[in-house]
Amino acid sequence: MAFMFDRTHFVDERTLSVSVKNKGLNYGLGCIDGIRAFWNEDKNQLYIFRLEDHFERFHRSGKALSIQIPYSVDQLSYITKQLLLMNRTTQDVYIRPICFKGGNTLRPELQDPYNHLAIYADYIDYEPKPSLKVGISSWTRMGSNMIPPQAKSTAGYMNSGLAIQEAALNGYDEAVFLTEEGHVSEGAAENIFIVRGGEVFTPPIADDILPGITRDTVAEILMEELRIPISEKSIARVELYEADEIFLTGTAIGIKPIIEVDRRRIGKGEPGEVTLEIQRLYNKIVRGQMPPYLFYCTPLY
Ligand code: PMP
Repeated sequence: MAFMFDRTHFVDERTLSVSVKNKGLNYGLGCIDGIRAFWNEDKNQLYIFRLEDHFERFHRSGKALSIQIPYSVDQLSYITKQLLLMNRTTQDVYIRPICFKGGNTLRPELQDPYNHLAIYADYIDYEPKPSLKVGISSWTRMGSNMIPPQAKSTAGYMNSGLAIQEAALNGYDEAVFLTEEGHVSEGAAENIFIVRGGEVFTPPIADDILPGITRDTVAEILMEELRIPISEKSIARVELYEADEIFLTGTAIGIKPIIEVDRRRIGKGEPGEVTLEIQRLYNKIVRGQMPPYLFYCTPLY
């Protein structure tokens, strides 16, 4: 899209530059978030999904990583709405806030007070598959005392990148991480859920996951709409192979069925009933088609 927000004002995306000495660029000292806006054809309306919740997580990431974000949640939400109004569209868009260290000294110092902030919006540039075949990564999820995965740091995506590359080389659509203890953690950029015997389980925060906003919405759908028990618990690798259904969740991919893990068929080898029902409801909620959940959707026009 043409315009983005650069710390103090809106600029043409093509005119922006950053020093090659920048610490965010050199050392990955930054945090991000990922938000989506969905077009509702019937209402002629673009809705931003859980806008404030994303910026609250952005602030929590900043706090965990000692990166002071120079605007409040309200200000960031306001700026984002202005940004989308400047880039009018009738398509779904992805919104990326990023806050990263300024300064051009050599040391990777977090205490340097100057931070850059930018927000840009774009279209999602790939056509997702309806279901995924995944592999357990030989890369371990980075531990909470390494680079805390509970915060959405830019540096943490090196861990994800290595796993994504390995998965692709092995012919998988996506990687699933284990923790150092061998518990199932999450996908390279998604949370994971299993369905077993009419119950749903997902790893707890302590198993080195990002607390996903989609994960949270799925828990609400299960409790409020489907009345299916959902709980956090550590999951062993074999529990994936034995699961009735598995799915990944994330802002970019929504709810995505997994039909194979390590070339082993999951359940019947096709998207499961519970997964598809969650997916159906989630797709309606984000697009502002479920009145009880309209409070999650920020209208733009
Ligand atoms: N884990 C990781 C590592 C991610 O990058 C993402 C995507 N933001 C998620 C989980 C899912 O989070 P959300 O549902 O908030 O997009």
